[in-house]
Parts: sequence; structure tokens; C-alpha cells
Amino acid sequence: AWGRICTDMKSTIGKEAYQSWIDPLALHKIEQGIAHFAAPTSFIGRWVDRNYGERIRSSFAREGYSVTRLDFSVSPAARKAATPAGQRSAPLNAPSAKTTATAHAADEELPGSPLDPRFTFDSFVVGKPNELAHAAARRVAEGGEVAFNPLVLYGGVGLGKTHLMHAIAWKLQQDNPGFRVLYLSAEQFMYRFVQALRFRDTISFKQMFRSVDVLMVDDVQFIAGKDSTQEEFFHTFNALIDQNKQVIISADRAPGEIDGMEDRIKSRLQWGLVADIHPTDYELRLGILQAKLDAQRAQHPNVTIDPKVIDFLAHRISSNVRVLEGALTRLYAFASLVGRHIDLDMTHECLTDLLRASERKVTIEEIMRKVAEYYHLRMNDLMSARRARVVARPRQVAMYLAKTLTSKSLPEIGRKFGGRDHTTVIHAVKRVEELKQTDSQIADDVELLRRMLEA
Ligand code: ADP
Ligand code: MG
Repeated sequence: AWGRICTDMKSTIGKEAYQSWIDPLALHKIEQGIAHFAAPTSFIGRWVDRNYGERIRSSFAREGYSVTRLDFSVSPAARKAATPAGQRSAPLNAPSAKTTATAHAADEELPGSPLDPRFTFDSFVVGKPNELAHAAARRVAEGGEVAFNPLVLYGGVGLGKTHLMHAIAWKLQQDNPGFRVLYLSAEQFMYRFVQALRFRDTISFKQMFRSVDVLMVDDVQFIAGKDSTQEEFFHTFNALIDQNKQVIISADRAPGEIDGMEDRIKSRLQWGLVADIHPTDYELRLGILQAKLDAQRAQHPNVTIDPKVIDFLAHRISSNVRVLEGALTRLYAFASLVGRHIDLDMTHECLTDLLRASERKVTIEEIMRKVAEYYHLRMNDLMSARRARVVARPRQVAMYLAKTLTSKSLPEIGRKFGGRDHTTVIHAVKRVEELKQTDSQIADDVELLRRMLEA
């Protein structure tokens, strides 16, 4: 019966998907309404259950078996001819080198970039700005989800895109020994492709990329304007998505805004889930500092730090987490060298350059000026009591930007906007957050303004 179900599945879900997901399964027995399968990895089991479970159960019913549940146990041997034709089907071992981005048979080199052992989910601090990206990354790392293909993570420099991608790779590898997870930067992708062209070896390049279980390409904006690489990327991407293989992409801005990227790629990238990572806010910076503090304390047990310094850094250092980390590292290194307590004086002394850079941070006045200019209004309109939509909406956008781009408190912001109450500011922030989800015009306006202000 399973044989017939397989034949049936092959024609309904397509040969590629069949080979990736159904063929690797072995049916052991059906007992008390449960069909027991052996799957090469738990990921495959979960994926099949989620995406094909219903279909398999009804096929069993047609064959006269009542199956209410599918059960998958992991047995690496179950993976038989799952590799594409022309490739050796070597036994899949756990990766030997823990620092490589690939989990694969020892004799099939996947050209991944190295994974940073510090970039795990455990060390990732979650806050409002990265909540969605983190949740999506977790979901993808925990099992297949067709709706999330591809997963696109985007956001400015140093906001944790690479960290999240490595975390996904580590988790997938850990849970699924033998799983072919390929993480690489777009630069690496291009490098490999150019090499393949040079050595006339594009066939094995194609085969290799199409044989992975999960492909992650970091900083995809890099291939914008690189025509043949884009072309190849597009085909690889499509081939994997068609096989229901998870693809995860990161970029430094929204896919639609990557200049020099082909339109068909832009639109293809938006088929799955696009999750943006916003610039960090004060709370998140505080959380990250707290987490990094533990590591520094372990390294420099004799150095003490004034809690005020942490609060000061969370307020004053830019939204880039890398800079924030760097500041803390520098303070600890300095303090342990000169044997001093870390206080505000030392912080000013030691971080002059960083602090000066962060002084260029946007002010509420600048925000008001830019917003007024953008919507063809006068600054005074934003402070006035006028409630007409043409003024009220830009005012809300300006308040939202003031809240998200500066560390000013709600009452302070309210005061600048013609002495409004802090609840008005809260309302404006909420409203713009809602509108950003439902009104693409507002979403674009906000994004554009944010860029101009942060430039
Ligand atoms: P991106 O790829 O977006 O430029 P990275 O992932 O390289 O940024 O992050 C820069 C640094 O900041 C890394 O050291 C990373 O561990 C750290 N980092 C970023 N976001 C977080 C976070 N939410 N929690 C902990 N560390 C973070
Ligand atoms: Mg990165």
C-alpha cells in the first residue's frame, strides 16, 4: 500500500519534492492508527507531517487503513537515494569540524562560510525591534514551515542578521546530524560561481547548490548589479523553493529597495516572510549590555563597573550592536590594564570618539524639519493644534520617529510638539505602528524619512 501511496504522491507533489521529502522515509508498521516511519532527520519528519501529513493520512484511508497520526523516528540510515542523480550517496555523518557551516557527508565539501560559535539563540537578546525576526528565525530552525519560504531578514548594519542566521544553522545542525545546511555570504556565492565559470564547472556548482537541505545567503544586496551572479542565484533559489527546501536570505534593506537587483528577484524574495530588524531601542540596548556584561565579568573578574555607566551607554551609543559591544569591551580592557573601577569619568575619557559620533544623533527638531519638508508643511503646523488629516498624520509620523530615533522621553517629545500630553505621543506611536502594517504608503514614508535622518 505504501508503494502505491508513494507513486501517487510522486505525481501529485512532483518528483523533486517527492525525492526530497517522501522518498527518504521508510514505513515500519501501522499500529493502533499510528503509522510509524523512520526519517533521516527529525526536521524531515516534522516537515512531512506538517506539509504532507493530511494527504498521507487520506491516502492511507483510500487504501483501507485507518491512520490518525504519523510518527517519525530518526534513523540516519533511512536516507537512501535522496541525493540527486549523479551524486555519490555517501553515508551522512555528523559534521566533524564544529566550526564549519556545513553538515554533510565528509567527502562532499560544501563551500560554506564559517559559523561563529558565539552566535546562537541563547546569546541573542530579544526585544521589540527584533522580535519578529527572532520568532521567524526560531520557527524556521525548529522545523519546516512552507509559509516561510523564503525567510528574508533585513535591517541595518550590526543589528543581528548574521547572528540570527548562524543561530538557525547551529540549531538545525545540532538537531539534525547529517542535514545539509549551507550558510554563505553573497560574496562567497559569487566567488564560487565565478570560479565555476572560470573552470567551466558550472554543472557541479549547480548540483551542489541544488542538493542542500537549507540554503542561507547573507547580505544578498552584494550581488545587486552583478548580472550573471544574480541570474544564477535566481535559478538556484527557484530550484530549492520548488523542492520545498528552506531558503533564508538577509539583506541590509527591504528587498524591494535593493537598487540594481532584478525585479523578478525582488518580487520572488517577497513570496515568503519578510521580517525586518529595527534599530535597537534603549530597552534592547540595556538587555544586550547586561548579557555582554556577564561575559566581560568572567574575563575580567577584578574589574568593577558603576551601574550608571550601563545606563549611560544604553542611552548614548548608537543603535548598532557591534559598536555597543565594542564600547564595553574597550572599557573592560582599559580598566583591567590600568586597574581602575569603570565609572562615568573613565567612560568619557575612554570612549570620546564613539560618544562624539553618537552626538550626531538626530534631534527632535531635525525630525520635525525633515517631516515638514517631506510633506510640504511648515514646522509650525506640526506644533499647532490643527487636526486635519494632512497635518495630523505627518505629526504622528514625526512623533513616531522622535520616539524611535531619539532617546527622548514621551513627555519631552510631547512638549516639543506644541506642549502635547505624553498620551498623545503614545497614541501616535501606536497608530503609526498599525498603519505601517496596513498602509504601504505610510510604511514607505516612514522608512524613507528614517533613512534620510540617519544618513
Ligand atoms: P548584522 O549581520 O546585522 O550586520 P551581526 O549579526 O553581525 O549584525 O551583529 C553584530 C554584533 O552584534 C554581533 O556580535 C552580534 O552578536 C551582536 N548582536 C546583534 N544583535 C544582538 C542581539 N539581539 N543580542 C545579542 N547580540 C547581538
Ligand atoms: Mg551580517
